[in-house]
Amino acid sequence: MKFHQPDSELFIPDGITLPAALGRTTHLAVAAHQDDLEIMAASPILECFQSREKWFVGAVVTDGRGSPRAGLYEKYTDEEMWTVRRKEQKKAAVVGEYAALALFDHPSSHIKDGSDQKAVEDIAALLRVCKPQILYTHNLADKHDTHVGVALKTIAAARALPAAGRPQKVFGCEVWRDLDWMADNDKVGFDVSAQENLQAALLGVYDSQITGGKRYDLASMGRRRAHATYFASHGVDTATGIIFAMDLTPLVADPQRDIAEYIHGYIHRFAQDVAERFTRLGLNS
Ligand SMILES: [Zn+2]
Repeated sequence: MKFHQPDSELFIPDGITLPAALGRTTHLAVAAHQDDLEIMAASPILECFQSREKWFVGAVVTDGRGSPRAGLYEKYTDEEMWTVRRKEQKKAAVVGEYAALALFDHPSSHIKDGSDQKAVEDIAALLRVCKPQILYTHNLADKHDTHVGVALKTIAAARALPAAGRPQKVFGCEVWRDLDWMADNDKVGFDVSAQENLQAALLGVYDSQITGGKRYDLASMGRRRAHATYFASHGVDTATGIIFAMDLTPLVADPQRDIAEYIHGYIHRFAQDVAERFTRLGLNS
């Protein structure tokens, strides 16, 4: 299997042959950076962990060269950071028992260029071989350009597949800007109450980012806990961890569907929810 970037790589944690490793895929997530998979796709990682029938494949689109650095890593060059981040992502793939990990190694500039097809082709090539039932990527209202760029390229890649070969479900997950704002009926909630130890381990391998000054490990676990408690204002907590997602399936099932209009529908329903409450409370606008 050949991807565009010369240093792209397919890493198989358990060392079996490539066709066997990819052929067992059931869940596949495409993320922008090293550590995004573990923040946004904890649900499929946990679901596939120690399973014989379900296997998780992770794909990281960018190279990690421009990562922020501090502390132990302060004096690292871009090349050294590239090595460290790639090593950390592979550690997570081992800890999480991924079926495979694809490192596409694109510079962010490829992703921010809407006309650049290289990442789309790489993602499509992986999808064609892995044939996941469920596909995860970033959500379309994330506030990081590279994240939304990866989501758009992932949607384009899934749309390029023949209709029968497309994933049955596609979800946009939360990293930068969570999805608590969505109307409750629109929210897809993944219960990640189980194995907090494993979730913490997956987040904890990213020492260069955490020591580098961002407690993504604590913040991500805290967000999962907060979602579980604040999701429903009545009743007791039945889950202790929830990750929210946006259903992107209609955009892949119908390649003609307008993407901007689709996300605007979510924003419109949020605005409606706020407005209807005011009306109920007697505030006339
Ligand atoms: Zn990211």
